[in-house]
Amino acid sequence: MIVVKMGGAEGIDMQALCGDVATLVQGGQRMVLVHGGSHETNVLSTKLGHPPRLVTSVSGHQSRYTDRETLEIFAMVVAGKVNKRLVECLQGVGVNAIGLSGVDGRLLEGRRKSVLRIVEEGRTLLLRDEWSGVVERVNVSLLTCLLEHGYTPVIAPLAVSYEGEMLNVDGDRAAAALAGALGAETLVLLSNVPGLLANFPDENSLIPHIGRNELETRAACAQGRMKKKVLGASEALEGGVGRVVIADGRVPAPVSRALAGQGTVIQ
Ligand code: ADP
Repeated sequence: MIVVKMGGAEGIDMQALCGDVATLVQGGQRMVLVHGGSHETNVLSTKLGHPPRLVTSVSGHQSRYTDRETLEIFAMVVAGKVNKRLVECLQGVGVNAIGLSGVDGRLLEGRRKSVLRIVEEGRTLLLRDEWSGVVERVNVSLLTCLLEHGYTPVIAPLAVSYEGEMLNVDGDRAAAALAGALGAETLVLLSNVPGLLANFPDENSLIPHIGRNELETRAACAQGRMKKKVLGASEALEGGVGRVVIADGRVPAPVSRALAGQGTVIQ
C-alpha cells in the first residue's frame, strides 16, 4: 500500500502522474491519492472578492485564516474542481478512481481549532470563526472496502469534527494520517521542487536522505510550507509508515521515480 499526495502548487504534471498511477495500479499496487488546492483556493477566493488573509500564529507559523466563507470556497475548490479534474484524468487512463473528501462517510475525523491566536503588529489577537483542524482518526474500513472492489480513492483535504462540522485540513498531514492508518510502506509527497533543498531555491542542493533522528535539524533549512511538509513526514513515521519520499511532481513517471528513491527519502 502506498499513499501519494499531489501538491497544490503550480507545475505538477497531472497527465504524467495519472499515467504513472495507471501503470502501478494495473501492476497490482494498492494506492490512495490525496491532493492539495491551496493555490487554486487563493485564486478563486480573490476572484470572489474574499482574498486570503495570511496570519502569523503566536508560535511563529504562517497560516491562512479559514473563516466560514473561506472554508466554503476551499470546499468548492478541493472537493470540486481539483478532485474531479484528478478523477477525470485517472478515468481517462483506465483507473477506476473515486473522489471523496474527508467529510464523506467520516473518512477523516479530527479536532476543530476554532480560535486562532495570532500576532499582528506586535500584539496578540484572537481570531474566532476559524474552521480548520487536525486529523486524528481515519475511517480505514471505508477505504478498505473501496480498495477491495478495485477503486482507487482520491481524497480532498477536508475533515469532519467530532461535532459533525466540516474542517479545512493540511493535505500533507492528512496524507500522513492516512498512510499511518493504512499501514502504508511508503508515503510520497509530490511537490514542485526535487525534494528538500539544503540551499533553497538551488535545485542542485537536494538532500537525498534524512534519518528520523535528524528531522528536526534538517527541517530548519526549509521555510514555511516545506517545513510543514517535513513535520508531516515525521508524523507519518511516528504513525508506522516505512518511509516518506518528498519528490518532484514535474517529471515523467513521478511516483515510480519517488519509489525508486529519487527525491528526499526520510526513514
Ligand atoms: P505543495 O503545495 O506542492 O504540496 P508547498 O507549496 O506546501 O507544496 O511546499 C513546497 C514549497 O516549499 C516549494 O515550492 C518551495 O517554494 C518551498 N520551500 C521552502 N523551503 C524549501 C526548501 N528548503 N526546499 C524545498 N522547497 C522549499
